[in-house]
Amino acid sequence: EQEVADYMKNLAIRVSGFDVPRPIKNFVDCGFPVPLMNAIAKQGYEKPTTIQCQALPIVLSGRDIIAIAKTGSGKTAAFVLPMIVHIMDQPELEKEEGPIGVVCAPTRELAHQIYLEAKKFAKPYNLRVAAVYGGVSKFDQFKELKTGCEIVIATPGRLIDLLKMKALKMFRATYLVLDEADRMFDLGFEPQIRSIVGQIRPDRQTLLFSATMPYKVERLAREILTDPVRVTVGQVGS
Ligand code: ADP
Ligand code: MG
Repeated sequence: EQEVADYMKNLAIRVSGFDVPRPIKNFVDCGFPVPLMNAIAKQGYEKPTTIQCQALPIVLSGRDIIAIAKTGSGKTAAFVLPMIVHIMDQPELEKEEGPIGVVCAPTRELAHQIYLEAKKFAKPYNLRVAAVYGGVSKFDQFKELKTGCEIVIATPGRLIDLLKMKALKMFRATYLVLDEADRMFDLGFEPQIRSIVGQIRPDRQTLLFSATMPYKVERLAREILTDPVRVTVGQVGS
């Protein structure tokens, strides 16, 4: 136990919550299936980053998480890799009734980056990833969603529009990620986020990633997460 404590101190990890899974040191410790390990190697990821070391075992255990770490710390893979495992674990995967993994991000640039990362890890499993954001034809996105997907990466406003148009159904969605939650609040997306969360079943797993944790984000997190584990890496403001 002392060894684990020292290890976490070195990585500047702070964790709170009950029954927190121990951090891992290598991707093999996650028990990822071979195709996913190969995709990780292909990406050139040799070792998990600090936030990945603590977040991966928590998310893989099915727990909700609040993960606070600065930009560039590898948060995307920390939610994308367990998302692939979560989706492949679904008993009714073949039913093709809307996304299982839903990721909300504040801007189209960010959504696109997450989309590219998700595509790489989804590829060995032929999972369909849809990106949904403004500035691109809503009709094209509507048509794509109608053909079905397992993962949707979206900006909140466009996702709401497409939900209203009944382009996708949310009853298969069980893994919800709010990425860069602080920026989504800064951009005024709180009502849209609440609406999206309200359309996803309460027995979902919910992950909230942020660089900072202002009070408004904290309040939302308390409302929409269930017994979350909170992980903070490094020095974080507000
Ligand atoms: P954040 O979301 O925390 O800002 P990103 O997920 O965008 O960070 O990752 C930042 C960069 O680090 C990306 O270029 C990504 O490909 C790379 N990266 C992520 N995880 C690893 C890893 N385990 N090893 C090496 N590079 C990684
Ligand atoms: Mg990020």
